[in-house]
Amino acid sequence: MMKMITPLTGVKCLAAFSGMRLIAPLYHAVVDQSPKHIRFLYNIRSENTFKSDLEFFLRHYEAVDFDEFRKTELNRNKKRQFLITFDDGLREFHDIAAPILLQKGIPAICFLNNDFIGNGNMLFRFKASLIASRISEEKYSDCALQRVATLLETKCGDNQEIISALLSVKYKDSEILDQVAAVLEISFSDYLEKEKPYMDIDQIRSLADKGFRFGAHTLSHPMLKELDITEQKHQVVESMKGIMAQVPGAVPAFSFPFTDTGLDMAFFEGIMKEKGAPKMFFGASGIKKDRFPDNFHRLPVEDYNASVKEILKMEYLYYLARIPFRKHIFPR
Ligand SMILES: [Zn+2]
Repeated sequence: MMKMITPLTGVKCLAAFSGMRLIAPLYHAVVDQSPKHIRFLYNIRSENTFKSDLEFFLRHYEAVDFDEFRKTELNRNKKRQFLITFDDGLREFHDIAAPILLQKGIPAICFLNNDFIGNGNMLFRFKASLIASRISEEKYSDCALQRVATLLETKCGDNQEIISALLSVKYKDSEILDQVAAVLEISFSDYLEKEKPYMDIDQIRSLADKGFRFGAHTLSHPMLKELDITEQKHQVVESMKGIMAQVPGAVPAFSFPFTDTGLDMAFFEGIMKEKGAPKMFFGASGIKKDRFPDNFHRLPVEDYNASVKEILKMEYLYYLARIPFRKHIFPR
């Protein structure tokens, strides 16, 4: 009985049946031990898990670069292909993921925040995770913790309350994180200089020479839906223009920071009217179509503590189950 069912729920069969043959897995970093600036935010694939992921993808899909992927998508070719994508331009992409990808002959695209290339600054959520790591590791005085709790408008009962308040700080309030860091004598610039969380332009250049491609991911990684339309356009279009002008191996592709939920058709149509706008967008809602045809949803592999085989099967079955209700298309 199982032998009869298995082929029908195999990934190749599900890809053909759903018509969703193109997939784009999304990663941030590949490393065995999560760095302090990520530890409190999301799971990371280890080197071995990443290798297993890639081997599975290679067995079921053809590895392609951005240009080939875009061509297949535009021409609606029935090819089963995958494009590896990385967001945020982290150092681990250069140090760990890229050598593995090169060894296996797999192309990839990495999306960059202009403000963070070369470690001039870092994502506000990374600051929150770094402070949370320090609070959980070091003994701060009650007085310092009380001042932090006041800044975060939370109680100073235990560290857990402070940590969850830190992780809830929004982009527009992110100056609070700088104030908290000052109280706890945490220097983000020292951390950036010492740990170098992001790639610099020379590392990007060397990867571009090896065939990797780069796209835009906004200037400073805001939650776009929290900004007004002028700021949204600025973050998307200026990021894309800057990447195209200054980054070797750049292609006119853009990936959304956090999520594209809350952005309507008027947002996409408005952006597309701007000179220098991206030609293709990447979301992160799993296997899903989008009412805006040039927004491609990727597979957020790190969201699941599972093998990519299990993730893909679940995503395909979820996609198929939503078709009768027209919920397989992001409505906008
Ligand atoms: Zn990001």
